[in-house]
Amino acid sequence: MHKLISGIVEFREQHFPKHAERFRELALAQSPDTFMVTCSDSRVVPDLLASTDPGELFVMRNVGNLIPPATAEGISIGDLSEASAIEYAVLVLKVANIVVCGHSECGAMKAAMARNPRPDAPNLEKWLHHARTAAFRLEHEGALDSTLQPHDQLSQLNVLVQIEHLMSYPIVREQVAAGALQLSGWWFDIASGNMYSYERASRSFAVIDRQSAERLIARLRDA
Ligand SMILES: [Zn+2]
Repeated sequence: MHKLISGIVEFREQHFPKHAERFRELALAQSPDTFMVTCSDSRVVPDLLASTDPGELFVMRNVGNLIPPATAEGISIGDLSEASAIEYAVLVLKVANIVVCGHSECGAMKAAMARNPRPDAPNLEKWLHHARTAAFRLEHEGALDSTLQPHDQLSQLNVLVQIEHLMSYPIVREQVAAGALQLSGWWFDIASGNMYSYERASRSFAVIDRQSAERLIARLRDA
């Protein structure tokens, strides 16, 4: 907390003056083109990892980057917070992309795999039900990358399941079908600093480096 408070002063005195004009523009409106859904984990810092600036990413972070699926009427079966963020991003901000980003060594994935539930954390236990489909799939269909630790295997599959949950929202399906919205699955490896993108063709996560970035950007242009 000490660092946090000193950091506020550092931002106020050193960083804000450098970006004052940008913040003045942003004060009245935002128009990010991407909605990123990622984990609350302190090691996953979207603006740092993607070198993005204020106003460029609309972000939702929660435990395990989970999205409760919707009913046929588009109502979340779980918490309303995630559904609200989806509606705001799609209908108001009209983002062109939604990225679901999981990560290595995710505590939520480890908890989802634990055989003994925690009676002292009933909310967490209930929340992690949204990762259950991924756990089932890992058990019955196997991992995308069997060289990873089991919780990382789950984390990768969980990204794909949460994209399916996103697609359970009619407004998301409609925009995707209209070609106005693209969904991507990413996975961040903390130790190496590598970000991976899910490639449907190879059914695997491939590192985003200079070469593959060009391919990904070209795909966005074609979409
Ligand atoms: Zn996590």
